[in-house]
Amino acid sequence: MPDVLKLCGNYIERGENRIINLNIARLPSATKIDIPIHVFRSKNDGPVLLLLAGLHGDEINGIEIIRKSMVSGSIIPKRGTVIAIPILNIFGFVYFSRETPDGKDINRSFPGGEGGSLASMIAYQFTNDILPIIDYGVDFHTGGESKSNYPQIRCDFSVEKNLELAKAFAPPMIINSQLMDKTIRKTAQKAGKPLLVYETGESLRLDLPGIEEGIAGTRRLMKYLGMIDQAKPTDNVPLILEKNSWLRSKASGLFRPTVQLGEKVKKRQVLGVINDPYGEFEVKIKAPHECYVFGVNNMPVVHQGEALFHIGFNNDMRS
Ligand SMILES: [Zn+2]
Repeated sequence: MPDVLKLCGNYIERGENRIINLNIARLPSATKIDIPIHVFRSKNDGPVLLLLAGLHGDEINGIEIIRKSMVSGSIIPKRGTVIAIPILNIFGFVYFSRETPDGKDINRSFPGGEGGSLASMIAYQFTNDILPIIDYGVDFHTGGESKSNYPQIRCDFSVEKNLELAKAFAPPMIINSQLMDKTIRKTAQKAGKPLLVYETGESLRLDLPGIEEGIAGTRRLMKYLGMIDQAKPTDNVPLILEKNSWLRSKASGLFRPTVQLGEKVKKRQVLGVINDPYGEFEVKIKAPHECYVFGVNNMPVVHQGEALFHIGFNNDMRS
């Protein structure tokens, strides 16, 4: 562990806690927009853990996980360093939006470029100034648009370390999730930095139990990494699901799910129904095989082809 940590042009000593304000761009009104980065450095050797939220500006649960963890002091390490970024996409946060104001998704803009879009510039700064100094990371998300996620860690099982860290976090579910191009996870994996994604709830809604799971899981991960001595044990025995797929709407109309998020369902079990608004027809959405429902669309009006349920399973459940 270096005596002085260099982060975005700032030098942070051992034992120092500091807030660095990273300026990327101004609003059209000339208002300066900073991305605050909170750094907690112990005097003692240990890893550098990144806690990142608000990569999508309308996903508030992760922001609340980091806020509460900072206020309570639960992420102050005894050994090593925690770099906490509660809101990476400040621009989207201000506008209640997933994307930056030009409609770009930062998580489809990695590794980014200096002369690119605003999303690309934020990604570039992260890739070049923050990613190289971390050892591990947790990126906090929620379901996009009106979709709600059961508390879960997503990671790529092909890298053994990912699953090991996910089990240490011990959420209710751990889902194998392949890497998509231009995402932060793919960029981090290429750099050899394990980055877990924690998902809970939906955008612009607080999911209090999922927030508590996220706070406690972060503590368990920090204990596993040797950064703290104590973490509350959990009754969770994480369900490990190797495959996942979306069930889509076969008709347009009014949609009502009939299962709970996180529920295990049987083959051909009805998960939800779609009706036209005038009582003419009803279409049932059934489970193709035994599976767990870990994501649900809460939108009551859907178009044909729309993603309704995100299901997880293992090969032995597909018979
Ligand atoms: Zn997200």
